[in-house]
Amino acid sequence: RAARNGEDGVRGYAPAMGQIFLRRFQLVTQFRQAVDSGQIEVHYQPKVSLPHRQVVGAEALVRWSHPEYGRLDPDEFVPLVEATGLVDALTSFVMECALTKVRQWLDRGLRMSVAVNLSVRNLNDESFPDRVGEALLRHDIPPELLTFELTESSVMDDPDRSLPVLRRLHAMGVVLAVDDFGTGYSSLAYLRQLPVDEVKIDKSFVLGMGTDLGDMAVVRSIVELGHSLDLAVVAEGVEDDAARDQLVEMGCDVAQGYLISRPLSEERLETWLRARTRRGRGTRSETVLTL
Ligand code: C2E
Ligand code: MG
Ligand code: MG
Ligand code: MG
Repeated sequence: RAARNGEDGVRGYAPAMGQIFLRRFQLVTQFRQAVDSGQIEVHYQPKVSLPHRQVVGAEALVRWSHPEYGRLDPDEFVPLVEATGLVDALTSFVMECALTKVRQWLDRGLRMSVAVNLSVRNLNDESFPDRVGEALLRHDIPPELLTFELTESSVMDDPDRSLPVLRRLHAMGVVLAVDDFGTGYSSLAYLRQLPVDEVKIDKSFVLGMGTDLGDMAVVRSIVELGHSLDLAVVAEGVEDDAARDQLVEMGCDVAQGYLISRPLSEERLETWLRARTRRGRGTRSETVLTL
């Protein structure tokens, strides 16, 4: 009887699992071709300074328009791509798009930075900083207009390899940010040792702030910890005025979230920016403000 139950269980289970594995297999094998054929796109989510709400830059977030499965979010395919050698192609593609964007902005007098998410493989690749330096030179971009976002777990995977890479990027003048802060090791001692400039409070705490005093306390202490270490503090997942006002009161430096804007296609981002641009009097410089 036990054997029969097991069999039934397997029969109910197998097709669904088969489909999941098939889909994953397809995504991995199709990714390279997807990059080359334009199915992979970079969207941009604006970041604003607090309290003035000046647009200081945008985070590059990858999207895949799959011919069979439709719009895929990075949480589904980035981990698969990371598990293969293809993540170099992903990071290079996103960085190229992002630096092209910064160059366009500079050419029309906008000084805004772009943030690119890195994978553990990039951090463990000793040739990565050279490729970054080459790309910055080729696009003629000052290094401080490029930010790399890295998670604690990607740094801690192999610190002996990632720390030299981070130190070289930092020495080049590229801005380094710890993403999803508060979800990983998050020890003070460890943060002090990293050559980073910025912490990004994980959105789960920011989203919970309005209803959960514990989340509020976590956000407040990350702002204080960050500032005591001379780091800029960015909050992601800012969805409403109440959260923004709280963050201003806490002294958080930068906000990103649906309140300001969802991630936008390149075209929609340009429309969004144009509607908010103020030209500096008698200069070529422009600033973008969210009203
Ligand atoms: P992340 O770097 O922490 O990016 C923030 C995520 O929060 C994005 O999800 C963004 O759309 C979402 N978000 C922003 N504001 C709000 C808000 O107000 N409320 C809520 N609920 N969510 C908000 P997305 O675009 O799905 O990206 C998910 C993750 O995928 C990213 O998390 C990042 O870890 C990874 N990722 C995205 N693009 C790349 C890439 O080019 N390379 C690598 N290696 N990873 C990437
Ligand atoms: Mg990020
Ligand atoms: Mg994050
Ligand atoms: Mg994340």
